[in-house]
Amino acid sequence: MVIKGISASSGIAIGKALILKEDDYEIVKKDVVECECENERFKEAIEKGKVQLQNTINTTMEKLGEEKSKIFEAHLLMLDDPEFVGAISSKILLEKVNAEYALKTTSEELASIFEALDNDYMRERAADIRDVASRIIRILKGIESVCIGDIKEECIIISKDLTPSDTAQIDKEKVLGFATEIGGITSHSAIIARSIGIPAVLGVGKEINHIKDNDLLILDGDNGIIIVNPDDKTLNNYKSKMLNDIEFKKNLIKFKDMESITLDNRKVEVAANIGSAKDALNAISNGAEGVGLFRTEFLYMSKEELPSEEEQFSAYKEVLEKLEGKPVIIRTLDIGGDKKLPYLPIEEELNPFLGYRAIRLCLDRKDIFKTQLRALLRASLYGNLKIMFPMISNLKELREGKAVLEECKGELRKEKIDFNDKVQVGIMVEIPSAAVISDVLAKEVDFFSIGTNDLIQYTTAVDRMNEKVSYLYDFFSPAVLRLIKTVIDNGHKEGKYVGMCGEMAGNIELIPLLLGMGLDEFSMSASSVLRARATIKNLKYEECKKLVPKVMELGTSDEIREFLKNNTK
Ligand code: PEP
Ligand code: MG
Repeated sequence: MVIKGISASSGIAIGKALILKEDDYEIVKKDVVECECENERFKEAIEKGKVQLQNTINTTMEKLGEEKSKIFEAHLLMLDDPEFVGAISSKILLEKVNAEYALKTTSEELASIFEALDNDYMRERAADIRDVASRIIRILKGIESVCIGDIKEECIIISKDLTPSDTAQIDKEKVLGFATEIGGITSHSAIIARSIGIPAVLGVGKEINHIKDNDLLILDGDNGIIIVNPDDKTLNNYKSKMLNDIEFKKNLIKFKDMESITLDNRKVEVAANIGSAKDALNAISNGAEGVGLFRTEFLYMSKEELPSEEEQFSAYKEVLEKLEGKPVIIRTLDIGGDKKLPYLPIEEELNPFLGYRAIRLCLDRKDIFKTQLRALLRASLYGNLKIMFPMISNLKELREGKAVLEECKGELRKEKIDFNDKVQVGIMVEIPSAAVISDVLAKEVDFFSIGTNDLIQYTTAVDRMNEKVSYLYDFFSPAVLRLIKTVIDNGHKEGKYVGMCGEMAGNIELIPLLLGMGLDEFSMSASSVLRARATIKNLKYEECKKLVPKVMELGTSDEIREFLKNNTK
């Protein structure tokens, strides 16, 4: 049986299913006479919950870093929130009901409000509310928490949902992967699965109930599927795929401290994309020669309010120091589209990906933009910083962005605060109009970085989030490849270096072509760096160059895919 879900974290796991039961306690309404005592019992449970959470924060911080532990800090804040706790106390005292009932009903009401919002991020917060409420109910009922951290045998966890607390306790030696009925790629459990590096398939739906304890499962996180009790042939195929993956990864270690250089001495840079200061270490340990994209919006998304100049300064400084002089491209805020900030409401838009986002928002909200630019400029003294503007669609926007940067420089000079005046400024080329006029843009930037994730969606009119049209979202699209060549050529004509930080940069089948087009820097998820370097070291630049005119003549993605397959090693 094959069950389909959402691919939330890649990799393959083979193991026995461990079904995590939902909380099977029943909450019944009880009338309480001594409601003051009941309220005291509730408050004691809250205090115990805080101690538990503080412990979880400490272990998460140790295992997964500060950013992930913020999830539990938010839970702790909820227990400190007089409105949340007060509403439950009032219910106990006014309605004279038991604490469990008051807690369950109040938190459900609140969670339903969040769930009804038309915003993925806010909807996911309903899970946080339920997580906190279930923790306190368990304390009230004296039920030992299900401790995923205590799992002794290797397994694949199957459950309706995994709370962030559950996921944070995962020991990857025992929990080989997990699948859940609900949840999507923006849920915290998905974020944590990716950072621990175990496969996860989420949003499986009711089909998940077909899985029984101890069923043998293949969890294919790459394709978002679960194969239940596979036949021998399928099992053996997957086993050999896993062995190949392990062997392959072992062999790649030797490339860690090497240069990314072809057999005929064309040197390029293989860098990593990061979303937090913590990811910087992961980038280095995976052999990245720099950071080709720091998506700073995650810094904003992990806060309850806009991060201050000071907070941003220390995050950027930390990354720059960790990278010890290697280039670090930090992209200014790219919020909007699918990435929203709960504390910065943006009016509902019919086409958010074509709407008020990224540089457009920043040029409109100079207060937000300037705080970030000042923090970046101040951090520029601590390493090799390059500033990058996202979603540039015309020359005017680039000039305006640079003018705001100059304004910030002027302010810092007046305040006698040091910064690197020569800090490089570049843009993401991810909108077709920017690619088309890349000849004029090239004259006014220090570098380009091609954002293929968006460039593909805008060039081919395929929403990158819509699974119904995902068959049209194609790395091998001749139109996109022509635009990429145009951008590289135009950048080089002006002597500017051209990188790529979209997912395409790590695509092994396309690396020879991109190398042949002259791409200078390939930036990708840290786990792909060594594989890309190994590929590059096995290629001849002069041979790769010959691929380009041939590919430019081909009219369909399939022809290009086929041609590259037959003409590269
Ligand atoms: C891109 O669009 O290619 C890109 C790297 O940016 P993001 O995926 O953050 O939109
Ligand atoms: Mg983009």
